Amino acid sequence: MTNAEIASLGKRYVMHTYNRYPIALVRGQGTKVWDADGREYLDFIAGLGVNSLGHCHPRVVEALREQAGKLLHCSNLYWIEPQVELAKILVEHSGLGRAFFCNSGAEAVEAAIKLARKYAKVYKGENCFEIITMRRSFHGRTLGALAATGQDKFHRGFEPLPPGFRYVPFNNLEALKEAVTPETCAVMLEPVQGEGGVYPAEKEYLKAVRKLCDENGILLIFDEIQCGLGRTGYLFAHQYYEVYPDILTLAKALAGGVPIGAMLAKEEVAQAFSPGDHASTFGGNPLAAACGVAALRALLEEGLVENARKQGEYLMERLRDLAAKFPQVLEVRGRGLMVGVEIDGPADRIAQVCLEKGLLINAVHGRILRFLPPLTVKKEEIDKALEILRKALKECLG
Ligand SMILES: *Cc1c(COP(=O)(O)O)cnc(C)c1O
Repeated sequence: MTNAEIASLGKRYVMHTYNRYPIALVRGQGTKVWDADGREYLDFIAGLGVNSLGHCHPRVVEALREQAGKLLHCSNLYWIEPQVELAKILVEHSGLGRAFFCNSGAEAVEAAIKLARKYAKVYKGENCFEIITMRRSFHGRTLGALAATGQDKFHRGFEPLPPGFRYVPFNNLEALKEAVTPETCAVMLEPVQGEGGVYPAEKEYLKAVRKLCDENGILLIFDEIQCGLGRTGYLFAHQYYEVYPDILTLAKALAGGVPIGAMLAKEEVAQAFSPGDHASTFGGNPLAAACGVAALRALLEEGLVENARKQGEYLMERLRDLAAKFPQVLEVRGRGLMVGVEIDGPADRIAQVCLEKGLLINAVHGRILRFLPPLTVKKEEIDKALEILRKALKECLG
């Protein structure tokens, strides 16, 4: 089928929950993807941060093929070797105590919400259930994760949302202090906000949040579903901040492109869950877990975290050079290969023009361009992408 044929069928049969670009991607290799008409693109959005190893990383493809021929699924009534291995790698590298597996980011957030509530019920009492989250945050679309998300536009039309969430402005310690009550069981935040427009936390702020949580017996949850796993130039974004969470959520890049989610917690917090408290049929299944093991090994052994840091610096430097030529470009911000460019201009149109010229990026909130290239990206690819962006900015901003 051609792009147009696929789009036309999709418009007829698929529920209209996405505004899609008029192309269908059918193949990918490294930083490149091809559409159904055979056109090639540089992929600087990488499945919204999923394809961190680039498309079709050979070690993930190999692990998937091998596991698919051995055992696709068995229930969590039995031990699953790749799941146990994946848990060990995650625990050893995060310093947290134990892992629970699910299939998506939203599910990892749901698991974190449930664990925080259960922990507070056991150790602090019946009425301690409130979770403070941040304005502009994004935690997922299931009802609990949606209620945790501090953006009204995602809530509209789905009320009533589950109670027990309170929102405060990000990077504002005073507002957080004021919001804490005896009912607060946890604070949840993204060390670098993604969907909200790429806003990194300030170092002093995050350190102070940790201190505030410790002083009040409040759990600190970091949602690193987007910013974790090497994206910021650190294996975990919080390692840059030297601030450590009690609960950590991961998903997106964890299995190199295969659906998976994980919620990690300190040993004493994890102990609040007893058998039967939480479960997932597909969570930690052999196929996804084997891909997770292969993806993490590739990430750790192929120098990709270091490459993310190095190429991230280069990308930001080049973007700042470009920004200097266009007064409508207000700010370039981010960490590692998680970069946002704020524009006083038509960001959606700029992303569209980039696509027409062979570069995939994304626009959020109509004024921020988001870049999430694979962590394998090369300097030459950044140069090529920036040349396309320069032309697109010239065309759209004059
Ligand atoms: C993408 C994302 C989620 C939701 O993940 P899904 O897999 O789409 O459910 C949650 N939190 C953050 C920070 C994300 O970027």
